[in-house]
Amino acid sequence: MKWINHQIVTGFIVCAATDDALFTASAVVGAVLPDRVEGSPPKESSAYWKWRKRHRTWSHWPPIYLLLIVAAQAAKNFYPEPTLAFVLNLVTYALVGALLHIAEDGLCGKIPIFTPHKKYGLKLFKVGAWSEYFFSALIISICLFVRFGDVDLLKNYFEKIFDGRLRF
Ligand SMILES: [Zn+2]
Repeated sequence: MKWINHQIVTGFIVCAATDDALFTASAVVGAVLPDRVEGSPPKESSAYWKWRKRHRTWSHWPPIYLLLIVAAQAAKNFYPEPTLAFVLNLVTYALVGALLHIAEDGLCGKIPIFTPHKKYGLKLFKVGAWSEYFFSALIISICLFVRFGDVDLLKNYFEKIFDGRLRF
């Protein structure tokens, strides 16, 4: 998935879940973290293949991020100080953003789950394909519906369509 789609999809998911602008901003920053720690791919061929071998291994291994989230939340209980707690929450949401990035990568490629070198994934779409944008738009629509949607209105709408069909 392209970085822009990682950021937009992650941002909408966290915004729908938390309704908090700062947490959303943190998650958007974290949404490119797993790729950022790998650095950009080197131009020179042998360096590139070395980089490629490491690509999506440790940097995309969820247990690391889960452990950091647990550590951040534990530190909050250990040092009950409001400013620190606030900062640790921002860090936590950046890490949540990183986990969402990994999940999103798992939809269009392979990611490690149990060990850093064995990868699993669904290949729902190719990076940069129109289906990636369609998928991103779908997730955004679901988030908007979760946040602002009216289930009864939607039910009503489909009932009307259905009734209309029956009459024909
Ligand atoms: Zn990635």
